[in-house]
Amino acid sequence: MADNPAKEFPRPTVEVNTYKKANTLTAKVLETRVLYREDDMNDVRHIVLDAKPMNYFDGQSVGVIPPGLNEKEKPHAVRLYSIASLEANKEGSENLVLCVKRDNTVDPQTGTVYKGVASNYLCDLKVGDEVTLTGPAGRKFLLPLPEEIHRPYIFVATGTGIAPFRGFMQRLFRHTPNFASPVHLLFGVKKEAELLYDEEFREYNAPHFFYHKALSREMKNSAGGRYYVSDIFTEKADIFWPLIRDERTILYMCGLKGMEEGIGRAINELAKANGAGEDFYASMEHRVIDEVY
Ligand SMILES: Cc1cc2nc3c(=O)[nH]c(=O)nc-3n(C[C@H](O)[C@H](O)[C@H](O)COP(=O)(O)OP(=O)(O)OC[C@H]3O[C@@H](n4cnc5c(N)ncnc54)[C@H](O)[C@@H]3O)c2cc1C
Repeated sequence: MADNPAKEFPRPTVEVNTYKKANTLTAKVLETRVLYREDDMNDVRHIVLDAKPMNYFDGQSVGVIPPGLNEKEKPHAVRLYSIASLEANKEGSENLVLCVKRDNTVDPQTGTVYKGVASNYLCDLKVGDEVTLTGPAGRKFLLPLPEEIHRPYIFVATGTGIAPFRGFMQRLFRHTPNFASPVHLLFGVKKEAELLYDEEFREYNAPHFFYHKALSREMKNSAGGRYYVSDIFTEKADIFWPLIRDERTILYMCGLKGMEEGIGRAINELAKANGAGEDFYASMEHRVIDEVY
């Protein structure tokens, strides 16, 4: 969404592009494990990298340069991956975590499989392997500064879009003294088995943490259709309208391109039903942060 600097909440000043294509960082794989697996073509991995001395923040991304050359005999382009862990320099922080989905496409006519270059490379890495990184990248998808952090949050994720929220949750619930504001995590996937880090999120048992799931193939919305993450706003209007109306609430979205439209529509419907105009979503642009891909 467009920004309204006058109304924007203050975020930390972070380093970006300390490591560039001409000056990369070599990181070592410390751990790699499957978070979800359907078959050899379809898995999601939790990959832990020793990326010292990169100075990154939760919510930022890193660039990965796959080894080898592309079809034009040029080095592969950088692919971005959200950091799924807390700020590098925070006490007790893990190493750099990536949450990567193997991105393969099958041509339905011919059955030809097109394998995503970087995601397959990352998902096939072994402990001890080295990875070429750039970054960190991104100045927007960050929680507010400590003096502004005590406010309600709505975190909306689809698929690997959950990655940055893993670090956000750690920051709010483990590293922010006296944090007592409501946090609603909305996670949309096709089926329950695909809920990445589900066990970890269920361990946050604070009374002000609310975990909402939308399983499009396993749940129906009240109209009898597939239950998408945007449906949570409509189905739980009594919870979400007061939150959305609250000028202090920040809405973060991460995941599949296109999710913002459905969410914007759902919010506008809520606003309309509550007499708050036709395009309420546009009026909250300064407190909506999205990262979709
Ligand atoms: C800010 C940001 C953060 C991101 N965070 C994450 C994250 O946390 N986790 C994550 O998994 N991803 C993330 N991504 C997506 C990631 O950057 C890559 O885009 C993704 O992994 C695919 O890259 P790839 O190199 O594997 O695929 P590519 O090689 O770039 O191919 C892209 C797609 O095209 C298909 N394709 C290739 N050739 C053909 C062809 N001839 N015909 C038809 N289809 C073809 C491939 O199968 C693949 O699906 C993020 C993206 C951005 C912008």
